[in-house]
Amino acid sequence: MSDNNNIDEILDIDSLHEDHADDNDKPEKVKAASADKNKKEGGKKTEDEYEDVCFVCRRPESRAGKMVHLPNNIHICSECMQKAFDSMNDPNMPYADMLSNMTNMPNMTNMPNLSFFNLNDMADQIPQRQKIKKKKPKEEPHVAFDIKSIPAPHKIKAQLDEFVIGQEYAKKVISVAVYNHYKRVETGSMDDIEIEKSNMLMIGPTGSGKTYLVKTLARLLDVPLAIADATSLTEAGYIGDDIESVVTKLLAAADNDVEKAERGIIFIDEIDKIAKKKNTNQRDVSGESVQQGMLKLLEGSDVEVPVGANSKNAMVPLTTVNTRNILFICGGAFPGLEDIIKERLNKQASIGFRADLKDKYDNDPDILSKVTLEDIRNFGMIPEFIGRLPIVYTLQGLTKDMLVKILKEPKNAILKQYQKLLALDEVRLEFEDQALEAIAEKALEKKTGARALRAIIEEFMLDIMYEIPKDDNIGTVVITRQYIEHTGGPHIEMRGVLSLEG
Ligand code: ADP
Repeated sequence: MSDNNNIDEILDIDSLHEDHADDNDKPEKVKAASADKNKKEGGKKTEDEYEDVCFVCRRPESRAGKMVHLPNNIHICSECMQKAFDSMNDPNMPYADMLSNMTNMPNMTNMPNLSFFNLNDMADQIPQRQKIKKKKPKEEPHVAFDIKSIPAPHKIKAQLDEFVIGQEYAKKVISVAVYNHYKRVETGSMDDIEIEKSNMLMIGPTGSGKTYLVKTLARLLDVPLAIADATSLTEAGYIGDDIESVVTKLLAAADNDVEKAERGIIFIDEIDKIAKKKNTNQRDVSGESVQQGMLKLLEGSDVEVPVGANSKNAMVPLTTVNTRNILFICGGAFPGLEDIIKERLNKQASIGFRADLKDKYDNDPDILSKVTLEDIRNFGMIPEFIGRLPIVYTLQGLTKDMLVKILKEPKNAILKQYQKLLALDEVRLEFEDQALEAIAEKALEKKTGARALRAIIEEFMLDIMYEIPKDDNIGTVVITRQYIEHTGGPHIEMRGVLSLEG
């Protein structure tokens, strides 16, 4: 046990260090003084929020235990320190010779083991992005919002309405699911009764607002959000990102604060791309295997993730994140799913008493909303995977009317952004209704949903933004349908005229 005594003595170095002294042993006055000192040293305080990482084995304080603190921000865990001492005592190592050689060197006689390296060169060895924020003590757990302050579903939806146009059903489902999820998280009722997590599967055409809905939601709830692309995921050991990398992203989004990350949202886009490959004899490393690999994550498990890097390696500290309270939302366009649904419905419709027109569903624009779990399984998602995403809903393809509304109604609508920009030059920007319809029609042709809108607007606004500031007399610009269709120009009104009319 003499070894352990050694270490305990060494750990007592702490008490010599004023900064790290154990406050409990100090008289009240000294405590107050040191608290005051900490307050003054603002920078030091933020530094204290991060865990120390062992300089030798790279494990953080929470895993390696108490650290010995050396100058220049270098910390060594007791285990590594012990190993160093053990090796010093090893009769097979020619330390005696080494030491006698060093006696000629200045400053080398006192602590030869530390003098082997120049501590000054090693300051700031661990970059800021690789540091782990300390977990707060269990007695006073940090709550993002307490149970009473979780907005009720109708309030969540009302806030989503301000940004997301249409998609009423999706917004309703998502509001209720999120409300239930965070209520469970806050009350901790997931411990007593195994209530299913509210993980979701969102099906909708490209550009219909899937990512936008999740982004808006995370911002409103003030929880960290990681957006990952399922196409880049592969089974561990193969080229591509490991499945657990999605948790690493969330941790980065939460500023390496594990507790915050454990209440976050992970959005996995393009989930249809990991459908089971049909008719293949090879191992399906980026399809079915990824679905299999995600099962544990979706359900809730401890995941060891690297901090501040994408892959685990010897030089990166690791930390453990529990995914039990993380909300997973998977989204995808599921091309071809409509045909599967149609086939099923047509088959049902043509059998027995309920026989109906054979092609009744062929032109149904709302066909996607009739999806069932069986259809999704037929598409190539494995039953265990679907089972862990209990909330399934669809988003509608955007219509012309919805596109027009997207242009002008949301809080941060594109038109409002341009209007604000020109207002800085004291120019009013207006759009004729016909012009908005023309933009929406052009966007529909591109078949990329609302994503096409910005590209179209930027194209014709370029000239406006270039020409208008040239002439100080311009007071109002009205964009017309002719201008959008390249058959005419915008209406320009001069300031003088405006004031005359006014
Ligand atoms: P996807 O469904 O492919 O994930 P996105 O959510 O990325 O599509 O949508 C692209 C952009 O289109 C968003 O950034 C947003 O500005 C706009 N958008 C899409 N749908 C809507 C909507 N329903 N309401 C408001 N804006 C929308």
